[in-house]
Amino acid sequence: MMKMQRNKAPQYLKDNQAKWTQEYLNKKPKPESKNKPSSFYWHGVYDQLLTDLKKLSGKRCAFCDRPMSPIGDTEEEIEHFKPKSYNKYPELAFEWTNLYPICPKCNKIKGSRFSDLLLRPDSNNYGFDKWFWFNPFTGELDIKSDNKKSIEYKQAEKTIEFYGLNRTKLVERRKFVSKSKTKNKGFFGGVLPFRYIKIKKGIFH
Ligand SMILES: [Zn+2]
Repeated sequence: MMKMQRNKAPQYLKDNQAKWTQEYLNKKPKPESKNKPSSFYWHGVYDQLLTDLKKLSGKRCAFCDRPMSPIGDTEEEIEHFKPKSYNKYPELAFEWTNLYPICPKCNKIKGSRFSDLLLRPDSNNYGFDKWFWFNPFTGELDIKSDNKKSIEYKQAEKTIEFYGLNRTKLVERRKFVSKSKTKNKGFFGGVLPFRYIKIKKGIFH
C-alpha cells in the first residue's frame, strides 16, 4: 500500500454530493421490509469518478498496488472506505475522501467491514516504510513494528487482514518480480518491487 496524494474533490461531486446523499438516505428501507432494495447508484458518474480516483493512485489498486486494467467495470471498482451500508456510514456514500480505486479482489475480501485501525494510503502521516516492509524471501508484507501492543502494529495487522494483502497470488507475484529484479543487481528489499516496474497487461493478478 503505497502513499497516495489526495487532491480536491471534482466539481461534479461537490455540486451534487448533498443532493445525492440525501436521496440515498431517504431510500433507507424500513426494518420490516424483507427484500431490501439495492438503492445505491452513481448517478452516471461512475466512469468519470473511477478515472479521477485512478489518477491519485497511478492507476493502481490503492491497497494491494495491483495495476488496474480498464477492461470493463470488473477489473476495477470504487471502494467506500467507510461502508455506505445504511447501518454504517451512508452519509459518506458520495464523500470524495471516503472513495478509493480498488481491485475486485481487495474489495471482495474487505466487504462491508470497517475498523478505526485501518490505514488510509492518503492520510498525511502515512508512509509504507513506517508501517510495513517487503520481505523478498517470503513475498509477504511484514509489519515494521515488533511491538505487538503498539497501535502501529495493530493498524498494519488489521490493514493486511481486511484487504488480504498477503493473499497467495500477491505473495507469489511479489516473489517472482523480486527474484527477476535481484538476479543481476544483488539484494533487493524494503519496498514493493512490482510497484515500480512495468508489467505486461494481464499477467499480474
Ligand atoms: Zn487490490
